[in-house]
Amino acid sequence: MILEYHLIEEPESRWARTPENFRRDLERLREGGYRLIGLGDLLDGRMALPAGATPVVLTFDDSSPGQLRFVERDGKVEVDPNSAVGILEAFSRQRPEFGKTTTFYVLPGAKQPHKLFGQPEYEKAKLEYLAARGFEIGNHTLWHANLSKYPEATVRTQIAQAQQWIHRHVPGYRLRTLALPMGAYPRDLSWAIRGSVDGVSYQHDAILMVAGGAAPSPFSRRFDPYRLPRIQALESELSYWLRHFAQRPEERFVSDGDSQVVTIPRARRSDLREMTAKRFRILDDD
Ligand SMILES: [Zn+2]
Repeated sequence: MILEYHLIEEPESRWARTPENFRRDLERLREGGYRLIGLGDLLDGRMALPAGATPVVLTFDDSSPGQLRFVERDGKVEVDPNSAVGILEAFSRQRPEFGKTTTFYVLPGAKQPHKLFGQPEYEKAKLEYLAARGFEIGNHTLWHANLSKYPEATVRTQIAQAQQWIHRHVPGYRLRTLALPMGAYPRDLSWAIRGSVDGVSYQHDAILMVAGGAAPSPFSRRFDPYRLPRIQALESELSYWLRHFAQRPEERFVSDGDSQVVTIPRARRSDLREMTAKRFRILDDD
């Protein structure tokens, strides 16, 4: 599952998860045997998880303040413990085995409160904080453009300028992935994958949609990095998918405990992508 969060704030709504419910989501996932991995690790097939654990990826769209808020306390600036990053860091201190790597799809040119988490004085500090602590930053266009509506030049400029604006704060940061605003693909997929505008070159290893259910395993033939589905982290969707995988363990990716090895029933070997046999040792699970 690649989960997709938007606002982290009160009250709970279609686009908002409360801090308390977000905390509970982490605990439910942990209890269900899930562990966080970074999206980059998923793309690289780097499933460094203990045997029996199931990977889950967390993504946050639209850089609103509830995702990462700085507060001043006793003259010191710190992360609000009720913002998503504060909650994740506290949870991972208590439960280090769960992990904390998540991906933030930020909007560097949006209207407030969606411009780089909504506190202009801390924009740079926040992006530096995320990059330094192993969180991932992804491209979500400059101001949330619906890429299906625009000609090639506009699509490419939206993507390249987003990267350029992010690089003002974290120079050289490699933006590996793009989340499509509203899940809307440009008329030609290649415009979103790689390109160059006014000397700014971008290249995405994956493109994320806004819906579509659980993602296939990165070792599977069905894995298409340019059409990665996500699950919106609403109460109803989360409950549905947690129950789904609890009832259908055969559909669930479970780590064999060795990230160099892919273990699969012999009868399903033909499901593997070609790349898998080249880069990993394949074991039969019979
Ligand atoms: Zn968005």
